[in-house]
Parts: sequence; structure tokens; C-alpha cells
Amino acid sequence: MTTLITVEEKIQDFLRAVKTETGEYKYRKKLAKIALKSEKSLIVDFDDILAIDSELAKQLIENPDEVLDYASRATWAQMKIEDPEYAEQVDKIIFRVRKLPEKISLRTIGEEHLAKLVMLDGIVVRATTVKPLIIKAAFRCRKCEANISIEQDGLVMRGPGICSQCKGKSFDLIERDSTFINSQEVRLQEKPEDLPPGQLPRSIDLKLTEDLVDIARPGDRISTVGITRLQIDTLTGGVKSRTFTIYLEANQIDIIGKEAEVIEITPEEEQEIVELSKDPWIHRKLLTSIAPSIHGYEDLKESILYLLFGGISKHLPDGVTIRGDINILLVGDPGTAKSQLLQYVTRVAPRGLYTSGRGSTAAGLTAAVVREKAGGMSLEAGALVLADKGVCSIDEIDKMKPEDRVAMHEAMEQQTVSIAKGGIVATLNARSAILAAANPALGRYDPYRNINDNINLPITILSRFDLLFVMRDIPESEADDRMSEHILKLHKFRSSPEEPPLSPEILRKYISYSKRIDPVLTDEAIRDLRDFYLKMRSSSESAESPVAITPRQLEALVRLSEARARNFLRNKVTSEDALAIIRLMKISLQDVGIDTSTGKMDIDVIMTGKPKSLRDKMQLVISMVAKIEKETGNVDESTLYQELSKADIDEEQAKALVSRLMREGILYSPKPGFIKRTAV
Ligand code: ADP
Ligand code: MG
Repeated sequence: MTTLITVEEKIQDFLRAVKTETGEYKYRKKLAKIALKSEKSLIVDFDDILAIDSELAKQLIENPDEVLDYASRATWAQMKIEDPEYAEQVDKIIFRVRKLPEKISLRTIGEEHLAKLVMLDGIVVRATTVKPLIIKAAFRCRKCEANISIEQDGLVMRGPGICSQCKGKSFDLIERDSTFINSQEVRLQEKPEDLPPGQLPRSIDLKLTEDLVDIARPGDRISTVGITRLQIDTLTGGVKSRTFTIYLEANQIDIIGKEAEVIEITPEEEQEIVELSKDPWIHRKLLTSIAPSIHGYEDLKESILYLLFGGISKHLPDGVTIRGDINILLVGDPGTAKSQLLQYVTRVAPRGLYTSGRGSTAAGLTAAVVREKAGGMSLEAGALVLADKGVCSIDEIDKMKPEDRVAMHEAMEQQTVSIAKGGIVATLNARSAILAAANPALGRYDPYRNINDNINLPITILSRFDLLFVMRDIPESEADDRMSEHILKLHKFRSSPEEPPLSPEILRKYISYSKRIDPVLTDEAIRDLRDFYLKMRSSSESAESPVAITPRQLEALVRLSEARARNFLRNKVTSEDALAIIRLMKISLQDVGIDTSTGKMDIDVIMTGKPKSLRDKMQLVISMVAKIEKETGNVDESTLYQELSKADIDEEQAKALVSRLMREGILYSPKPGFIKRTAV
């Protein structure tokens, strides 16, 4: 008994002893502030306890239930000295502890941690609504009306059983005379960046009470200190199992990384990064360090480089925010390394998350309100919310659920996800760059069709991508030769044929560091971007463009130019940046069927799916087949090609046209080497 009393005294001594660097009494001052602001708890740094009384610090970790109980009383006793009036008013001050010396990985929590004080960090993926929790239940006997009060802890409410006065067995709960506190449950999951490769994230439930409720929202990264406890598993029909589930009764929660950089950079590394940025070849070096194991796709890789660095989001005085994050869509034939590129980006981005459009959780890509097993609703964050302040790679985005499509519009421009369902109304942050991949709706990309006929996504979503690239798998002997050599070498040497100039580690740090710089547009850059935009805009006036040229593209040009300036850690966006981005934008627009050489869109591509010149040529092939048919009865392929070559269509092109007409069912081959019209 005597040792226990000492604990309380020890803590009060501690509260009175700790001084700040300026010589003030740290916790006495804090207590005065708590009284002033009518707060409920005192937050103590574990290091302070360790510095003053290491034995007490150890006891706190090993035996937190008891020590925290005494600590709370000691704090109240000290409050009685600082502000007796407030102490009387609250009759309890909760003692909370932050920053334990050791962080435990959520993955390794086990039986050895039970009933100990631990510190964990992770990302909140789910939060229930706030519910009152009874801590003192007032019952009244139905027979003799005797009042019985029972303190409550544990998971189920305990009743009086038998009335001590009249031996009655039925009671009413008197809410008015009972004591409740606020409670909430949240689910903490391993952060995507902490996840061992190829592993599913693990999670643990946290029980929060009093002033800890509603501090953290889904998508927040938190550090929490608490006591690990057990909850028995139940089998079907309420049968108790022999297994238990670990949960954490939280003592303290701190939201982390709200603004801070995700990656720590030492002063030596900072020097290395600044040195690198002065290298005249830095841009080339960055570029060739992006996905070195993937062959080709230079323009695409350049765009991905800018996506990783990102532009600058702008908060205007009237409350409007313009996103700085860059969104890119890859549409391509199967096997063109789309998924590989997405996976790569997730690994190298300072904070990256890879997901598939199909989604694996109830929340899918955005957010959902889900019904809890034990009743009640909770809000669950999806991939875009979890990737807040990072890069979200969405593979097979064309297969996303209809609910996600709706939310995607908001997420991609406003960078928030709003939900109002089942009594939960919330807006969560989703400030992430999006790199998405889609497969063509018809299996292969058809260049003679419009982009939105090629992929199963509405124009409204397509237009929210800053850049769009089409990756086609066209057999071409010279390129195939180089590519196969690249892939075979890769398999032989188990690494990229060429070492990237920057290792993934230093690249990540370089990217992270660059975000400290907010480059500003120079007048020259503004001039170049404006000229280009106005030219594109006037050319799209009349035509119904597959992707309309709107102010969105202008904002995209700005973001991408800013990102390029960050490549050089430069605080100005130059004309050189602007011109490089205009080049990429042209390639992207060309990919979706806008002819940037004339500045005009080929109306025929949009209206019929075929450019005019192609339609003319196809018509020529058909009439030639008809002519030869009339003359000889049979159409020999070689005769046809000979005739066509006279009309300036070489054999290769002629073959392509014939096979296209066959695919469209206009021509067919009655026997090898011969061609016929299907219906005359
Ligand atoms: P997709 O998602 O586009 O269908 P994947 O990313 O799954 O294709 O790629 C299929 C395989 O082909 C991967 O093993 C990938 O490494 C290889 N591959 C395809 N294109 C390239 C390329 N350009 N360079 C290196 N490997 C490639
Ligand atoms: Mg794929």
C-alpha cells in the first residue's frame, strides 16, 4: 500500500519540478491554462518523466492502468493548488502521455504487449459516430424503488442482479441519474509507406473517450499512446471463442504530418541535393532515373517526373483553392507496362498508394458509410483519402464502381470527398496526384475512333486529367528488336541494363526536398503559355472536340511548368519550362485526336471515327476490288496491290487497309490469297 501512495506523491513532485528552458514551471503553467480554457486533461511529455524519475517512467510503461489512475489524482491534487475553484468544478483531470521513446509497429503487436502502455502510428481509415458511454449506471428496483448505483467498466453493462433490500430481480435504468462520457471507435491502419512490399495492411481498433473523440478523421495520420487490451471473439450465435482481438484504449492522440514533409532529410543529404540541382545534366539525370527497367516512353516518363514533383496549389483570398497536383491518364493496349509504371511511381513517390479501380474495400476509391457489426454507422476512407498529400495510382480505372465515378469528379478537381449518408455528413481531404491507367474498351486501342469511344469513362472525368497518353502495342521490327533486347537483358542480369543516375532513395529525397520551393511564373513563361493556349482555344472554337480546350488546360500548363522548375530547385518558371510543357501538351492532345500541326481537330475523326483521308483511301480500295471483280471474276491480292500502287498506295498501306476492311466486314477472303466484297 505504501508504495502506491508514493506513486501519487512522486507524480505530484514531478508536476511541480519540471521547468522549461526559460525557467518557468512547465506543468504548473499548463494547469493554469487548462483551468482558464476549461479543459479536461493534462498532456505530459514522456521524456520529462524519464528525466526526473526513470523508475516512475518504467512503471508507467509496465503498469499503466494503476499509474495513470494515480497520476490523474495527483494532477487533480496539483490543480487544487493552482486553481482550487476549477478543481472543485471538474473533480477529475485526465493525465495523458505523449512521445514514448519507442514506437511499436502495428504489425508486431501481440500477447507480450497486453496491458502495457504502447505508442503506435498509422492512418485512420474508419471512425464511428460519437456515442455516449455509461460509466456509472443508476438503477431503480421495480418492486421497492430502491436506488442502486453501479460503476461500469469492461465491454458489457452490469446490472445489480438482486435487490439487496427486497430481493427483487427487475430494475429500470435511470438515465437522468447515471453518468455518461462521449466515446468513439476508430480503426488505425498501417501507413501505405510503412507497408512491407506485397503485404496487406494490418489494422487495430482504438477506443477513444472524452476529449479524444472527434480529434482524428478518416485519412488523418496519427500517433497514439494507449493501453493494449483484449476483446473476446464471438462465434455465430453469440458463442464465446477461445481467441481474442487486441484493441487499444487510447490515452493520447496526436495528428502527425499535417504539413510536415514525409521524409527526413539530413543536412548532409540536403547538401547533396543542392549540389545535384546545379549539375548541368540534372534534368536528363532525373528523367533517366524514372522507371529505368521500362523501355522507351520518354515523353510519358517526363510527364510522370512532373507528376512526382507537382505544381503549387493556390489558395485565393475568396476561399477558392486551385489544385497543384497533376493528374495523368494512360490508356493502352494490354501488356504495354502500364501497371508496371504505376507500381513504380507508388514506390518512388514520397507517399504513394497503388489501388485498382475495382477497389478491395467497401470504401473503394473514395469514401463510404458502413454499418458496424455492433450496430451504428461508421465512416470509412477510400484510396484517394488515404493518399492525401501523396500520389494515388489507380490501375484499371475504367472498371471503377458507379458510386466512385460520381465522387471522382469532386476528388479530381476540388480534391475533397464529400459524403452524406446514414446520418454521417463529412468532407474529407483527397489532395493527391492521380496516375491512372485504363484498358481500351475493345481490347485494343483503335486510333480511328474517338478517345471516349475507346475507353469506358465519361468526358467529364477525362477532362480532369492534365495529360492523357495512349500506349499502343504496334509490331514494328526495329523497335521490337530493341525492346526485346532490353527485356531479355533485364531478365539475364536481374537489374536494369543501365544503372539509373540517381538511386530511388536519393530521387525520393530530391522530390521531397523540391516541395519546399514554390516557383513563380516569369513574364516570358506567361507569354509563351498564353500564346499557345489562345491558339489552341481558337482552333477548337467551331469543332466539337473530343476533349474540349478549356481553361483547365491552361491551369494544367501552369502546374506542369511549375513542376518542371522544381526539377532544378529553381524558384522561377522560365520560358524554357513553358516550352517543354507545351511540347508535352501537344503530344498528349495529338494522342486524343487533335491535330496540333494545323491547330485543327480532324472533324472526321470525331464524327465518323475515321479521318477524311483514310475514308477516301478505303473507298478507293473497295471500288478497286469491285473493278477487278468485274473484269476477272476473282480478285487476286497481288493484282489488287499492284493496281493500288498506281494510285500511290504502297503495299504495306494497302495490306493495312484491306485487313481493316475485313475487320469491318466489308471485305472477306473466300480462299487464301483472294478477296471478295461481302455484299454487293
Ligand atoms: P499492362 O498493365 O499495360 O497490361 P504490364 O505492366 O502488366 O502491362 O506489363 C506486362 C509485362 O510486359 C511486364 O512484365 C512488363 O515489364 C513487360 N513490358 C511491357 N512493355 C515493356 C517495356 N516497354 N519495357 C520493359 N518491359 C515491358
Ligand atoms: Mg495492367
